[in-house]
Amino acid sequence: MHHFSYKNGELYAEDVPLSQIAQEVGTPVYVYSQATLERHFKAFDQAFEGLEHLVCFAVKANSSQAVVATMAHLGAGADIVSGGELYRSMAAGVPAERIVYSGVGKSEAEMAAALDAGILMFNVESAQELAVLDQVAGRLGKKAPVSLRVNPDVDAQTHPKITTGLSKNKFGLDIELAFKQYQDAAKLPNVELKGVSCHIGSQLTKVEPFADALERVGVLIGRLRGAGIELELLDLGGGLGISYDQEEPPSPAQYAAALKEQAGRLGLKLVLEPGRVIVGNAGIMLCQVLFTKDTPAKHFIIVDAGMNDLVRPAMYDSFQAIWPVTEDPERPQVVSDVVGPICETGDFLARDRQLPDMGRGELMAVMSAGAYGFSMASTYNSRPRVAEVMVSGDRWSVVRRRETTEELMRGESLPEWMD
Ligand SMILES: *Cc1c(COP(=O)(O)O)cnc(C)c1O
Repeated sequence: MHHFSYKNGELYAEDVPLSQIAQEVGTPVYVYSQATLERHFKAFDQAFEGLEHLVCFAVKANSSQAVVATMAHLGAGADIVSGGELYRSMAAGVPAERIVYSGVGKSEAEMAAALDAGILMFNVESAQELAVLDQVAGRLGKKAPVSLRVNPDVDAQTHPKITTGLSKNKFGLDIELAFKQYQDAAKLPNVELKGVSCHIGSQLTKVEPFADALERVGVLIGRLRGAGIELELLDLGGGLGISYDQEEPPSPAQYAAALKEQAGRLGLKLVLEPGRVIVGNAGIMLCQVLFTKDTPAKHFIIVDAGMNDLVRPAMYDSFQAIWPVTEDPERPQVVSDVVGPICETGDFLARDRQLPDMGRGELMAVMSAGAYGFSMASTYNSRPRVAEVMVSGDRWSVVRRRETTEELMRGESLPEWMD
């Protein structure tokens, strides 16, 4: 469910016409619906009611301050994967004791910053990382709260680039070897064992892989308990999918129902790290048709947004629905490729898509662009990053102004031997 809908043939974000935003801010622009964000967070959080739990929003899905602050106001924690995301999360008002730090490649400086901040836990992904974290904590006179991220070797049945829980993926520690690693970790002087974590992939549309992973992690928790290693936290990661096209992913309620009983029996506080399911359908990217052109093979709609602004179609072959901002049921439909201005054949937003015959100057909304949209944007082809707008009811606000062309060269200089 989201709050982008047509009223009298015009597409609105909540009570604001998108054409008004385009007129005042220009295009391309990302538009987020705060009511949708709130609704999604609450639905997810309430699904786990009755079980002690903490929902940590996966900041990499959308790290804009207005989005992370909206989460913080609702009581969410943050799942971070870098020192930059630590900084952003704290600036947006997420308390350090609700921050979990995931990722296979944390630098010593990033570890130190997170230890200084006093985060809830590090999800550690290798024996070397654990040893280095122990040393860094020792130097700072701190104890590092640690959970080992195990790789349960279950197939998430999603796109290969976003599958993370197979033994051939770079993530986590082999679950068979994890028992021994916990015993080793328990001997480290500057480490406090807090929990166990796993994250098997993104855009999952079935509950079974989550339940399988939980079962395997549950076996490990039992073995650890038998060996006198008691944990407090069970982090099941993120990954619940959304509907971009025809997918029918489980609802948060169905997802929670599939996990609650088993998780409850283990008696640990549950940590969840949803990203996409909270923010994916809460954002759109608004762009404008620059030109159309016909070749013997195709009808192209060339728009002012490219793969640098929204990389998902190019990177994951993913489907993004496209809605015209002005609806006209009478208008003929044409099978079209919607492409951007970037000099790459991979620069497309839609391929062979039945769309209204749109012309120069028309606005279109690329739907479900709230997650892994702006947060993956780059300045490739020297294109300034676009603006972002947050809507709430009939109010709206620019939450990131459009980058300027001067800002593209910020920090650059010529070598001192050139004038
Ligand atoms: C990316 C990621 C998430 C969020 O995944 P979604 O599919 O957006 O829910 C959660 N945890 C970890 C460790 C991640 O890498």
